[in-house]
This record gives sequence, structure tokens and C-alpha cells, in this order.
Amino acid sequence: MNTPGIARLRAHRRLPPFALAVTLALFAPLSLFARPLPKHGIRQPPMGTDAMRRQAVDAPRELIRKVHARLAASNGTLSPATERGLLWWMGSAALNLGDDATLTEAVLRLDSLYHVGHDRLAGAAADYLRAFHRILDGDPSGLSMALRAAGRVQDTDDPRVRAWSGYELCDAYTQAGDAARAQPVCDKALTDARAVGDAWEQADVENDLAWNASALGQHARAITLYRRARARFRSIGATQVAAQVGDNLAHTLILVGQPRQALALSRASLAHEQAAGRESDALLSRANIARAYAALHQPVRAMQVIEAAIRDAEKTSNHGVLPTFYQDDSRFAEAAGKPRHALDSARQAIRWLEIQRRPNLLAAQKILEDRYQARERELRIRDLERENRLKALALKVAQAQAARAANTHRREQLWNAIALVVALALLVISILLYLLLRAQRRHAQALRLLALRDPLTGVDNRRAFMRSVAALLESAERHPGNTHALLLVDLDHFKHVNDLEGHPAGDRVLVQVTREIEQAVEGTGLVSRIGGEEFAVLYRDTGAQAARERAEALCRRIEAMPLPLRAGSAIRTISVSIGVAMLGTGYCTDTESLLRAADRAMYQAKQAGRNRVAMAQAGAPAEED
Ligand code: GH3
Ligand code: MG
Ligand code: MG
Repeated sequence: MNTPGIARLRAHRRLPPFALAVTLALFAPLSLFARPLPKHGIRQPPMGTDAMRRQAVDAPRELIRKVHARLAASNGTLSPATERGLLWWMGSAALNLGDDATLTEAVLRLDSLYHVGHDRLAGAAADYLRAFHRILDGDPSGLSMALRAAGRVQDTDDPRVRAWSGYELCDAYTQAGDAARAQPVCDKALTDARAVGDAWEQADVENDLAWNASALGQHARAITLYRRARARFRSIGATQVAAQVGDNLAHTLILVGQPRQALALSRASLAHEQAAGRESDALLSRANIARAYAALHQPVRAMQVIEAAIRDAEKTSNHGVLPTFYQDDSRFAEAAGKPRHALDSARQAIRWLEIQRRPNLLAAQKILEDRYQARERELRIRDLERENRLKALALKVAQAQAARAANTHRREQLWNAIALVVALALLVISILLYLLLRAQRRHAQALRLLALRDPLTGVDNRRAFMRSVAALLESAERHPGNTHALLLVDLDHFKHVNDLEGHPAGDRVLVQVTREIEQAVEGTGLVSRIGGEEFAVLYRDTGAQAARERAEALCRRIEAMPLPLRAGSAIRTISVSIGVAMLGTGYCTDTESLLRAADRAMYQAKQAGRNRVAMAQAGAPAEED
């Protein structure tokens, strides 16, 4: 290329010759094919550093100087990756500045890294720089070059490299003005940028998507995307890039009828660009400023601004912008009422479009594009297959784990069930044992009661009586001062009752007598039935006199007792004879003598005529009469 400067600007969409002829013939509003130019001022790194990325925008000359110094000082000792990064950013800064010589140096050095070190990434970087160089110069072979660059690293497994290359391709399509084709490429680039979490790159892609949306007439979407990109750049402190995005936004704002806002944004952007020396970017801002003036009905002022920009673009060989700028100038001249001037500018616009139109290159580009997309599809299928294999594997692992867990669960359930059954069995056994024990205890209790109780009258029987006497003797030994009394009560002529009234009636009388004795005793003594019609009453701590009185009272009471016999019975009353014997010091001191003494006393009472009381002699059993 003969021209010394490199325009960091986009090529134009060409109109077919027929359309151009019609446009010229009808002098139609040239805004139909007057398209603005996106700007970025940034290249995304698969290499280098964030600081370099910023400096390529903020201070591109400074960056180039530093890289030169570092390359000179290193004397070939830099690692290929470091050198690649430095060269990429040096080339990007050169693109921003339109510094053709530095750009060429960067491209050649990257080529050398590619050829000598088989560094495919360096090869791709060189091709992308070449591609942008051509696209900005209005050379349509630029897009083919970008596709070649993308093809070089298409097979990489590194997501950062994929994201980088994806964005560069998106940007190449965008800068080449092919909004419709750029859209899917940029969508994919956005996904890749998100995946690697690079905010700068995401904002870059959003800026391109906005540019393409605006080109496709989707102004509202474009404005949203631009604002998002601006906010993202600001959030990471990239204010200069945010200003550039503002200039892009300005273009869309003019289209939607907000020229004042657009003017402010473009002026802010221009200030940054002039400070950083980014002349090609500054040209775009100036064009936007001119368009804003036109929209504000100041066509003469708009013409002045755009014509100054055209002069500078021709001087610096920023040929890519010329068709658009001439179209703008033509439009402004028309509005200013200068039709001849407008026609001249329109002719210039078409001349530049013609120069940049090369059908054979477009065909080559098409072939490369198809190849790239076919390979993309293959890679996608490969990725899907790998994903599927991984998913199948994960599924198998999950199934195995689930089966293991289910087994463990089943075993645990079994053990739990066994434990439950055992626990229940133990519980049942203990309940049964308890019930059995209780029944046995009750049975034993009942047996004990039976053994000690008289079944007919319910009072103690002879065996119980003997125990009570033994117990009384024991306590008498412990307390020798106390005396106790035994009353032996025998029914008089009881045989008659049986004989005259029958045995059951005799039983009733026996029961009645028992109740009477119990009532007489009133809990002060212990009543027992010790023979057929023979009862004993034991009084604790009772003297002989008291015992006699109680015995007498008992005699009287029984004598007066009504009998449970039939109404016409010959038997009206019954009586008892009572023998009283004392236990204690000075009286009987053992069971046998006590019983014998009481028996003898009772016999004496019988002998004496019955229905009376006889006391055993103190100290010795009563003598038999
Ligand atoms: P006494 O003592 O005054 O000399 O005359 P008795 O008629 O009471 O004389 P004995 O001791 O010879 O007779 C006792 C009678 O008591 C004999 C028996 O039929 C009767 N007898 C003993 N046990 C029972 C019993 O459980 N029920 C009934 N109905 N009669 C009984
Ligand atoms: Mg008797
Ligand atoms: Mg009797």
C-alpha cells in the first residue's frame, strides 16, 4: 500500500451499481447509504495484560514507545507468549493511531513468531491486525483475512483464546458493515466472553451488537446495548472507551431525533481522542458532530465540519470513511440549498465505493466464510458429543451411587425391622412374665388366705389362730409386764340345732354367732373359729378382770341374739359357754398350757350349767372337775 496512514475506520456497505445510478439520477436523500462507523480503540487479549489493553486506548503512543524499548532491551530473551502479547498491543495501538509503520512491524514480528515458533496464536493475531488494517482502509479482502485468522485458532480448547478470536471476528464483520452476518457471530462472542468473565470484552461485544442493531434499524435495542456497554466500561474504569461508545450512541441518537444529546456525547469523545492522538477515531466523532448540526438545522456548519474531516481523512489515507463522509457532505449541501455541491459530493462518494468494490475478493471471502462455519458446526458437534459422554458417565456414576445407597437403605431397614421385632418380642415376653408373676402372686395370696381363713364365717381358722397365739407369746416374752387373755367360746347344745333345723340352718346360726362375736369385740380382739362350733377370742394387754367382764358381756349378747331360723322353730335362743385363760407373767407362758387351761375352764363352764364364764386358775391350768 502506498498510503502511509492506516485508518482505524470501517469500510462501507456497497450499493449495487443499479441502485447507485438510481440514487444519482433521482438525487434521492443520500442518508439511505450514509452509514456511520463504529469505534472501539481496543483489542481483546488472549495475551498481554489489562494494563496494555487500557494503554492501547488511553495513551497509544506511550504504549508503542514502551514496547519498542522493551523489545530492544530484551535482546531476544522474552518468552514467546510475552512477546506475542506486547506485539499484539503494539499493533492495536498503531491501528488506533493510524501508525502504518508500527503496525507493519508488529504484523511482521508476529508472523515471524508464527513461522519460527509454530505459534498459531501469533499467526492469528498477525492476520487479525492485517484484516482490520484492510477493513479500515475500505479493502473488502479484510474480512477474508479475519476469517483466515479465526480458522487458525478455531480448534483451540482454551476458552480465553476462543473468546478473544470470537470477538475479533464479530468486530471484523461489524467494522466491515455486514450487520446481518455480524449478529450471530457477535451473539456467540458474547456467550464466550461471559464464560471467561471478561467485563471489558463483554462491553466490547455489546458495543458491536449495538452498532449492528442500529444498522438494522433496531434503534431502541441499540440504545439499550450502548448504555449497557458504557456502564460496563465505566464500572471497570475505562472512561475513554466509554466516551467512544458514547460517540457511537450519538449516531443512533441522531437517527431517533435527539441531536443535542448526540452533540454532547460526540464532543466529549472527540476531546478524549484528540488528547490521546487517536486521529481516525476523532474523524468519526467529527462526522457525528456534523450530523448533529445538520439535525439541528445548521447545514452550513455541518458542511464546514465534515469537509474539514474529509480533508484530514484524505491526508491520513483514512479512505474507508470517505464514501460516508462524502454522502454526508452531499446531504448537508442539499439542505443548505447548494445542489451542485451536493451532486459533486455524491459523485465522490460513489467513486470511493467503486474503488473499494472487488467482486472476486467477495467470492473468496464467501468460500472462507462457509469453511469457517462448517468447521464451527463440527466443533460444536464434537463439544456436544463430549458433553453427552460426560453426562452419560455422570449418569452411570449417579445410578451406581443410588443403587449403593438403596442397598444400604434396604439393609438398614431390614436391621431396623429385626430390631423392632426383637424389641416387641421382648416387650411381649416381659408383659407375659409380669402377668404370670402377678397371677401367681395373687394365686399364692389367695391360697395363703384360704389356708388361714375359715370358709364358712370368713374369720381366722385354727391355723391362723395358732400363729396369732405364737406371735402373742413372742411379744409377751419381750414385754413380760403385760398380760393377755384367751376366751374359748363353745356353743351350747348345738347338736340340737342341726338335728331340729338341719345342717344348713346350723351353718347360718354359726355365721350369725360369728358376726355377733365380732361386733362385741369391735376390733379390740382377734376372733377365730378353731373348731366346728368352737371360737376363740384373743385380747392383747388385757387383765383377768377385764377379760371376765368381756366374756360375760359376750354371753349376754349371744343369749339375746335373734336366730336366723324358720318362724315356727322350737329353738328360740342359743347360748355359749366361755373358758377364759390368761397369758403372761404369773399365768400360762406357752401355747399348749394356755389352750389346755382355756379348754378346761370352758369345760368347767359347761359343767356348771352352760351359758356362763369360767376363769382358769392363775399360774396353772385349771383342774378338771
Ligand atoms: P355341748 O357342747 O353343749 O355339750 O353340746 P353340743 O351339742 O354342742 O355337743 P357336741 O360338741 O357333741 O356337738 C357339736 C356338734 O356341732 C356336732 C356337730 O354336728 C355340730 N357341728 C360341728 N361343726 C358343724 C358345722 O360346721 N355345721 C353344722 N351345722 N354343725 C356342726
Ligand atoms: Mg363343741
Ligand atoms: Mg357345743
